[in-house]
Amino acid sequence: MIIIKSDKEIEKMRAAGLLVADCHEMLAKHVKPGITTLELDRIAEEYIRKAGAYPTFLNYQGFPASICSSINGQVVHGIPDGTRLEEGDIISVDLGATLDGFVGDAARTHAVGQISDEAQKLIDVTRQSFFEGIDKARVGNRLSDISHGVQEYAERFGFSVVRDYVGHGIGRQMHEDPPVPNFGRPGRGPRLVRGMCLAVEPMINAGGWDVEVLPNDWTVVTTDGSLSAHYENTIVITGEGAPEILTLRGE
Ligand code: MG
Repeated sequence: MIIIKSDKEIEKMRAAGLLVADCHEMLAKHVKPGITTLELDRIAEEYIRKAGAYPTFLNYQGFPASICSSINGQVVHGIPDGTRLEEGDIISVDLGATLDGFVGDAARTHAVGQISDEAQKLIDVTRQSFFEGIDKARVGNRLSDISHGVQEYAERFGFSVVRDYVGHGIGRQMHEDPPVPNFGRPGRGPRLVRGMCLAVEPMINAGGWDVEVLPNDWTVVTTDGSLSAHYENTIVITGEGAPEILTLRGE
């Protein structure tokens, strides 16, 4: 069941979303060669708790940390540990915060120092594929119009869209209906209505779309070892025109 949010609830989603946006912005400054993913996790957790919120990922279905940190060929759900970032890595950071009962969820992929042109292109195309997708997130369109928008753009560059993990509705729970795939034919799925909140999150691989889960039962990696990038924001469908992005400060 898709839970449509009232204006009052959207106001709370906005507050949670801005906290997530600010946490990402703060954390990005720490992404440098030498820092460990566990250090990034601690910095994010402290930031979220100081704001009076709870790091939504922590203990979610047993996940042991406040952020997911996924390096290079890791796609999503990487567990922070003592791994030190190295010059030339790319790292995606996914994090959520629950504030006053509502959740914000967003992911960014960062360059660690100087990275290859191919890696930078993957990061840029992944980010842009989100914007191409949400350009279709308008009242009257259908859900898969977003999915198709993401896929059509990403594949134009020879990259592939992960099939096994998708975006989701979001609100009081991090994962609500509907699932939001990043691929598929347009014109399908539920009609988009005002007050629908979605986490749209393209996961794009430089190689094939096939992925597998490591023996830790969490970390998802590309089967062919190719680089993967992730970009996500929580959005709300507005009365007319483009959606509002809740986890991004106006730039
Ligand atoms: Mg998400």
